[in-house]
Amino acid sequence: MTVATKPLRAISELIEGEFVNRDRLAALEAVAARYAVAITPAMAGLIDPSDPHDPIARQFIPDMRELQSQPEESGDPIGDEVHSPVEGIVHRYPDRVLLKLVGACAVYCRFCFRREMVGPGRGGLSRAALAAALDYIRNTPQIWEVILTGGDPLVLSPRRLRDVTTRLAAIDHVKVIRVHTRIPIAAPGLVSPALVRALKSDKAAFVVLHANHPRELTGDARAAIARFIDAGIPMLSQSVLLRGVNDDVETLGALMRTLIECRIKPYYLHHADLAPGTAHMRTSIAAGQSLMRALHGRHSGLCQPAYVLDIPGGYGKSPIGPSYLSADCSMVEDFNGRRHAYPPRPGD
Ligand SMILES: *Cc1c(COP(=O)(O)O)cnc(C)c1O
Ligand code: SF4
Repeated sequence: MTVATKPLRAISELIEGEFVNRDRLAALEAVAARYAVAITPAMAGLIDPSDPHDPIARQFIPDMRELQSQPEESGDPIGDEVHSPVEGIVHRYPDRVLLKLVGACAVYCRFCFRREMVGPGRGGLSRAALAAALDYIRNTPQIWEVILTGGDPLVLSPRRLRDVTTRLAAIDHVKVIRVHTRIPIAAPGLVSPALVRALKSDKAAFVVLHANHPRELTGDARAAIARFIDAGIPMLSQSVLLRGVNDDVETLGALMRTLIECRIKPYYLHHADLAPGTAHMRTSIAAGQSLMRALHGRHSGLCQPAYVLDIPGGYGKSPIGPSYLSADCSMVEDFNGRRHAYPPRPGD
């Protein structure tokens, strides 16, 4: 499938943009030989080259530590492969499937959980494979929702997307078409009226935006988001909890508030997956829980995502707290951290 975006791919382009110190060139070439690298002008423009800890750079500029894998890390950290009945489909939960149309993204996140699978020209479904994937969905009546993911499905042309949504919408039991994407912030110019129309059908469409730092919601990104929402396509977000990017309550709170101000409901905060060479970007689960407590203590209920872990091995996502209720349901904690008794039901 064709990809309708031209990111800055080559390390030399990053150097020219002064995002990378020349001394680190050889090291970065070594990372780039192993994992895909790309940043779009929209994201590159957000980087402050004078800040060695810039949270945007940290997400997209290669780091030598990516070459050090830990024993617990895996090339397929959430077990997509064991649940793939046909090429392009991941069927883990009974009522919904992932449909991976394309392996390319506009940007390549250094912490990507599918980093062994994504890259320019990788993992795109051929015409025949797409037909077989659609046959699988058509022949599996319990599939209620289809999630277009990849890669990033919105790198496809509106014509290709329209073809897929039309064919999905023709399947009676498919009621919801969800798209997981980073395009509205990574390449907002791609969100054309034709692209928005390509997602509209008589089935419910949802767009879930991957956003990790409040600075990513630029004016152009907000305009792209508004094009979806004004067209009647609701938006949710997913963020990855990343060390040095959003693992402090000010940044995480600002991210959630900014999303709500853009009319996007925070959906998931993902604990970072055990993807190879990403240990330097992960936090502990305890740190994640304490951030969730801080969010709950400070911000509107609208600003609260569910903190989830995709269980290694392909067992699916589970909410990982924190919990405000004692194990026997007799004590509950309030937003200030004070504990209160809750009475048992008569007879229990
Ligand atoms: C994450 C995921 C989904 C979507 O899960 P929700 O909890 O519905 O957002 C569906 N299928 C697979 C295989 C997934 O990894
Ligand atoms: S946009 Fe998603 S699939 Fe693409 S590199 Fe980033 S995390 Fe991976």
